[in-house]
Amino acid sequence: MTVAVLLFTSDLRVHDQPVIRAALRGADEVVPLFVLDPGVRAAGFDAPNRRAFLADCLGSLDAGLRERGGRLIIRTGDVAARVREVVHESGAHQVHVAAGVSRYAARREERLRTALAGTGCALEVHDAVGNAVPPGRITPAGNDHFAVFTPYFRRWQETGLRETMAAPRSVRVPALDSDPLPERAAVRGTSPGLAEGGEQAGRKRLTAWLGGRTSGSRASGDGTSGKGVGAYEDNHDDLFGDATSRLSPYLHFGCLSPTELVHRARRGGGAGAAAFVRQLAWRDFHHQVLAARPRAAWSDYRTRGDHWRSDADEINAWREGRTGYPVVDAAMRQLRHEGWMHNRGRLLTASFLTKTLYVDWRTGARHFLDLLVDGDIANNQLNWQWVAGTGTDTRPNRVLNPLIQAKRFDPRGDYVRRWVPELAGLAGAAVHQPWKLTAPERAELDYPDPIVDLAEGRERFSRARGLD
Ligand code: FAD
Repeated sequence: MTVAVLLFTSDLRVHDQPVIRAALRGADEVVPLFVLDPGVRAAGFDAPNRRAFLADCLGSLDAGLRERGGRLIIRTGDVAARVREVVHESGAHQVHVAAGVSRYAARREERLRTALAGTGCALEVHDAVGNAVPPGRITPAGNDHFAVFTPYFRRWQETGLRETMAAPRSVRVPALDSDPLPERAAVRGTSPGLAEGGEQAGRKRLTAWLGGRTSGSRASGDGTSGKGVGAYEDNHDDLFGDATSRLSPYLHFGCLSPTELVHRARRGGGAGAAAFVRQLAWRDFHHQVLAARPRAAWSDYRTRGDHWRSDADEINAWREGRTGYPVVDAAMRQLRHEGWMHNRGRLLTASFLTKTLYVDWRTGARHFLDLLVDGDIANNQLNWQWVAGTGTDTRPNRVLNPLIQAKRFDPRGDYVRRWVPELAGLAGAAVHQPWKLTAPERAELDYPDPIVDLAEGRERFSRARGLD
């Protein structure tokens, strides 16, 4: 009887799962293992929203394995030590794990190799699990990664993807002890509107999204905002329309396979599917940057010689959604309430912090990582750097004016009224400029005056970057 350990990390699914497939090919029985590693907390990646979502994911994965005659084995402690222990208990001759892109994942792989050295048990690392096109698969001449998205995307589109893999019919697991599955209800400090995690919830959302029936989306006030992938190209920037897939947390935890998403979206065809697939390529793009430049998680990818400001009151106002700019505040409150924020909101709040207030992107990235259920070291840090102009944006000094953004992407003001109840009584687009009300009207609102003058913020940024 041969046994293989299948170590789950950010690939918590049974469908289109190359790691399960490889483990099952190589052995009669497999140990589907997840290790609750306190090292994740020590590395600063732990956050209540993600811990709660993870609990759902593990429950859902266990259910998926049980449907196939198996179950998930949970162990708690240092991942390398626990894997070695399970190898010893089960007599496994192979450990299979998905490749990761972060420095944390690279260290984990190294430590697993060290822990397994001399045990006679081989470590097999699989790529194309967490990415459609894995880091390093395509590179430009003379460089180990693409630094600009457009040429990357051209090559990405031409790259053949592996076929989607069916979920296994049966999974045989040897008798081994398991710690209990973590419970979502036991996690304190989560956002009240946090989505349900797990493969089942993710697949349901994916099917609805591809079929144009995503629940939880809000139609625009005029009812023109369509839902689902077919309407994505036209409506993805509509803040209130909420017409994006909301699949990011399921992708982050690997409840969904990006390869399967690309195949299924392409099969449906159309401009919406093409625009959606392009966003999935952005995800791979940032992953290949971070895999090649792990320091870019916390250091400027391209330094601009910034001497950032740090005003605690302004930073707190930004975090709490009390900047006096309603669209910025609405987005920051959505983040706190749902553990998720619309992409347009992420862009404009990040620009506000780094360019209008001229505060270090790391301050904002840390706050996002503390709350985002999809908080991902590559996509969060490199998108923050993109907005701050220290990353891969080819126009590093563009500044998003929150008022113009509000008028374009929340023209009727519904998004602001949804998230900033103090302003709910203001009709139409007037909600974006409460400072235009009379002093007595403003006094009744309990809403702050703007913490910064936009023109002054822009001048300060231009001076700091030497653009005058
Ligand atoms: P959709 O619009 O439906 O897009 C589909 C998928 O494409 C997303 O689920 C995501 O996996 C990927 N995607 C979309 N836009 C981007 C992008 N700009 N970069 C990389 N991948 C993208 N995304 C994260 O997954 N984790 C993060 O921590 C994160 N932090 C961000 C921080 C900032 C400052 C900004 C500007 C963007 C950040 N993004 C992050 C990217 C993007 O905002 C989210 O992926 C998107 O809003 C998730 O919603 P969705 O699933 O409905 O996206």
